[in-house]
Amino acid sequence: MTVEAHGGAPRPVHLLSPLDLGRFTVRNRIVMGSMHVGLEDSPADLEDLVAYMAERARGGVGLMVTGGLSPDRAGRLTRRGGVLTERLARRHVAVTRAVHEHDGRILLQLLHAGRYAGHALPVSASRTQAPISPVRARALTRWGIGRTVRAYARAAALAVEAGYDGVEIMGSEGYLLNQFLAPATNRRRDRYGRDAEGRRRLPLEVARAVREAIGERALLSYRISLLDLVPDGQTWEETVTLARELTTAGVDVLSTGIGWHEARIPTIATSVPPAVFTPLTARLREAVEVPVVASNRLHDPQIAEQVLARGDADLVSLARPLLADPELPNRLARGEAARIIPCIACNQACLDRVFAGQRAGCVVNPRAVHEREQRLVLHPVPPRRQRRVAVVGAGPAGLEAAVSAAQRGHSVTLFEATGDLGGQFRLAARIPGKEDYARAISAWRTRLLAHGVGVRLDTRPTARELQAFHDVIIATGVEPRRSDLPGFTPDGERVLTYADLLEGRATAGRRVAVIGAGGIGVDVCEFLTAPALSLTQDPPAWRERWGVADPDEHRGGVRPDGGPRRGSEATVPGGREVHVFQRRPGKIGATLGRTTGWVHRAELRHAGVVEHRGVTYDRIEHLPDGALRLHWQEQPERATDEAPAPATSSWSTPWCCASVRSR
Ligand code: SF4
Repeated sequence: MTVEAHGGAPRPVHLLSPLDLGRFTVRNRIVMGSMHVGLEDSPADLEDLVAYMAERARGGVGLMVTGGLSPDRAGRLTRRGGVLTERLARRHVAVTRAVHEHDGRILLQLLHAGRYAGHALPVSASRTQAPISPVRARALTRWGIGRTVRAYARAAALAVEAGYDGVEIMGSEGYLLNQFLAPATNRRRDRYGRDAEGRRRLPLEVARAVREAIGERALLSYRISLLDLVPDGQTWEETVTLARELTTAGVDVLSTGIGWHEARIPTIATSVPPAVFTPLTARLREAVEVPVVASNRLHDPQIAEQVLARGDADLVSLARPLLADPELPNRLARGEAARIIPCIACNQACLDRVFAGQRAGCVVNPRAVHEREQRLVLHPVPPRRQRRVAVVGAGPAGLEAAVSAAQRGHSVTLFEATGDLGGQFRLAARIPGKEDYARAISAWRTRLLAHGVGVRLDTRPTARELQAFHDVIIATGVEPRRSDLPGFTPDGERVLTYADLLEGRATAGRRVAVIGAGGIGVDVCEFLTAPALSLTQDPPAWRERWGVADPDEHRGGVRPDGGPRRGSEATVPGGREVHVFQRRPGKIGATLGRTTGWVHRAELRHAGVVEHRGVTYDRIEHLPDGALRLHWQEQPERATDEAPAPATSSWSTPWCCASVRSR
């Protein structure tokens, strides 16, 4: 990290240096990348959107990009998805004014969903259906293409009239313009298909029309797909040619996107190595004359700084990290990097909720997207209104509550029954790929110290002790649930809870049964089968596992045999054999988040974890030689009248690790 002394803390000089983008100068290199938070679509949520954006502009972000709005009805993301109409644009004046009041700059993103549209009448380059869409898209006619180009231009002009500093055209992640670019989805035989030049025609027409509509003072950013990560995507040569022609068409900035939404290779999950895709950004930067924005897994400012210092990009795009900590840029400028609460890339409260049609939140920032309800207290309460506050439990909720109360000027004491801070986060941090959970705890620890919170570890306060406080916040969280399975008697040796294992009080043997396949059960399986070096810290091995290829060699950057393959003895440390059991039939970990569950299931398959679904447990038998035998019944995968009765099975293991749900 390139640093200069600044109040005793490192100050990332590249990240914080201004940049002239041609149309205007941004105050630093941090771009708040476009991300839907569920406030974009309905005018009723506009005041909340204003508060959300204003808080991030106040936090010092250089350039912000809104969640995408469609230029026309066909391009809506959902049935109720936002379209930038004249009426809505007039109301967006409040958004741009709020951002400008804090010296921020903001672009409106125009996003046409194409075949990803979640309504009944999607359109695309050709008649195709995305594997993640319920409806087959119809091919746009020539007339429809012309109308779409005009809709982009009109929406772009409206955005600039509303005070936006420019627009971003969404051309990656597998949305409409990307669908025109890839042979996988563009099978047209007319001038908008046929060959690479024809496939580029629509994105270029859109860029030219938008440039003309927004005039010379507004910035035009284009989100370009560097790596489609789908078979029959673009080649590297096609991507670079597109990039060059876009700049000729009037694009000022190229913001890079990685992977289509339907790609079966994770791009933003917690297990993706930091900055794993920036070598490609560097290649693009060498090929064009305009600033290039890097993205994907740049959540740690140190990593983002290194990307800029190496010259891999001119700016970095952070989306979720600014949901987690809107003050990130200002904290860096003040030399308070250690106080930044990192995004842990869980997607639980942000993307998973948005994909379910709900408003986003954030598991490490309770105010995220609720800024108007939970107003920021900028000035501490006067001494006469200070209260003595006890917080019981030092997991994420207790830590955040303690810091918030202390920030408001109250006198806070934090009680924790164990010898350390972090609660369940401390256990999660031991799972390969979840190392960032430890960074979150460390940031809370720094904040506790900075705000003078009294911390009492190894202490369970009595009711009498708590009477000395004006307010008591109970944040005691969860503990492993006791199973009523006969023979389940955790002994810290053979029958273990997940906490025994993850806290290092016990180690598992060569043959392990994991009972329960929710989030914790899946985490435990990954813990038990992890290689010595987490793939998150080994980018070449990670690329190899997921089948990521050079787009020079394979279209779309996917190996033809792509994706993770089932593991073998060689891939499981010490040849450990792990079986996971779940009561419900169907896929393992069905309750995991929509955006990450498939990644975990693929990891388990790769590691050779044996899955047992639709299981009824009978008992755990303790054998005289010390081994355990788990007795269970397994339902046939598809029960029919002719199907045999459930078989009774038994399976013995020298170790039985019970990973039951928390309560
Ligand atoms: Fe990051 Fe998780 Fe918060 Fe989303 S919910 S911003 S992934 S910490």
